[in-house]
Amino acid sequence: MNITHVGVIGAGVMGKGVAQNLAQTKHKVVLIDISEDILEKAKSDITNNLRFQGFFNKSKQVENYEDIVENIQLTTDYSKLSDVDFVIENVVEKWPIKEQVYQDLDKICKTDCIFACNTSAISITRVGSATNRPSLVIGTHFMNPVPLKAMVEVIRGFHTSEDTIESTKKLLQQMDKECVVVNDMPGFVSNRVLMLTVNEAIFLVMDNVASAEDVDKIFRSCFGHKMGPLETADLIGLDTILYSLDVLYESYNDPKFRPCPLLKKMVDAGLYGQKNGKGFYSYGK
Ligand code: NAD
Repeated sequence: MNITHVGVIGAGVMGKGVAQNLAQTKHKVVLIDISEDILEKAKSDITNNLRFQGFFNKSKQVENYEDIVENIQLTTDYSKLSDVDFVIENVVEKWPIKEQVYQDLDKICKTDCIFACNTSAISITRVGSATNRPSLVIGTHFMNPVPLKAMVEVIRGFHTSEDTIESTKKLLQQMDKECVVVNDMPGFVSNRVLMLTVNEAIFLVMDNVASAEDVDKIFRSCFGHKMGPLETADLIGLDTILYSLDVLYESYNDPKFRPCPLLKKMVDAGLYGQKNGKGFYSYGK
């Protein structure tokens, strides 16, 4: 049976992309955030993304973008999730906030509704423990920008059932995604490696070994990466990088994950990267 009705929690960088991707692939979406202002901005960002998507990738060009946006119900009211089949949660990478969200979802959603957590580093087993349905909780680590990235890292928590994995694969297929399923440990495969690389690259800039531009140039020119680690950090969001390193540091109790002081300083100064126009680079917003 196709999954048709999906709740998306959080209308930030990732939630907007997930909602857009779902609506584009003919799902009915309920998109939740905490304020009407955030939702209004999300609606206009999604509309613009749909209008200009074809500029970057001709095969992704869409004509009927107004109809697609109509498939997304934007609301601050969690009770609108009472009859969705599947939830993809994308709230900020802070465990106390996510924990409260899962406790609320557990009360509101149908008992067979699957909860997929889009997190950078938080253990899916821990997420499952915040609910009375740990077998229905799974990790779906989407890549940014979601509508343009084919691959999703799927994480099997300690109690995640095979049926939940199969239903999640089905939904991802409906969204035109491929996936790799991995076992649960904080940071999974991708961010256990990537966050260390990004953090060390920030140390290099702080220690005045090289400028951000030169660090990135080395990764692009010498290793053939599409983007250097600091461009990647700006794309993800420096706040999200810091919160993810905090999660990894706390989860493993290992000093190798200590966030670089320059990263903390930039986040304190409000430099979040692409999402608000300034990080290691400027984005002219
Ligand atoms: P973001 O800061 O852009 O957006 C987070 C959104 O969550 C905000 O709009 C905020 O208002 C909303 N929010 C906070 N509390 C809420 C609540 N109680 N109910 C509903 N909405 C709430 O962050 P993001 O980059 O979109 O990251 C979201 C999640 O996805 C994080 O867990 C992050 O680690 C993960 N992630 C991020 C990336 C990336 O490249 N940015 C990639 C993969 C996964």
